[in-house]
Amino acid sequence: VGEGATIQQLPSLAYKSFPLCMQHLFERLRQDSHLRHQGRMQLSLFLKGIGLSLSDALQFWQTQFAPKIPLEKFQKEYAYNIRYNYGKEGKRQELSPYSCIKLVSMTPQVGEHHGCPYKTFSEPQLRAALSRLNVAPRSITEAVNKAKAGHYQLACGAAWEGKHGCPCDAGVQHPNQYYRESRATIE
Ligand code: SF4
Repeated sequence: VGEGATIQQLPSLAYKSFPLCMQHLFERLRQDSHLRHQGRMQLSLFLKGIGLSLSDALQFWQTQFAPKIPLEKFQKEYAYNIRYNYGKEGKRQELSPYSCIKLVSMTPQVGEHHGCPYKTFSEPQLRAALSRLNVAPRSITEAVNKAKAGHYQLACGAAWEGKHGCPCDAGVQHPNQYYRESRATIE
């Protein structure tokens, strides 16, 4: 990992190449100027995995949280965790971005947006989210059917196909793998 995404590129990358789990967190963060802990962990580690530098990550989160969370409160309550995720605090271990298996196993509560949307979204919510991402209608139906049957990663693969116009041969095992293969396909 380490493709070197910058803050300025994030909105376009989110639309084109983030899997739905990360695209959803990114949008909620922009709309609510906040994400709860698990959502912050999920998105922050993913962004680290796509090569967002620590200084860009700090600036990105601080800007997104403002003005709801003023700079001083951000520095005191949130910056530590972001540095921690980059291995700069505490045990100084690099934390890995979460895999699909881990995300599918999570159960977000009301007001939380982490986990895998193919598991957590209602059918209308899933249809609306995929059509906002311009996924081909036939693939939306396939993704919805696979999600209903409990095959969440296959549902994500169907959405990939409807977005990129070709199958994701490797299947979807990890949000960062989805992203890498999307960039390789688009570029
Ligand atoms: Fe994200 Fe994986 Fe779910 Fe796709 S299958 S939305 S990459 S957790």
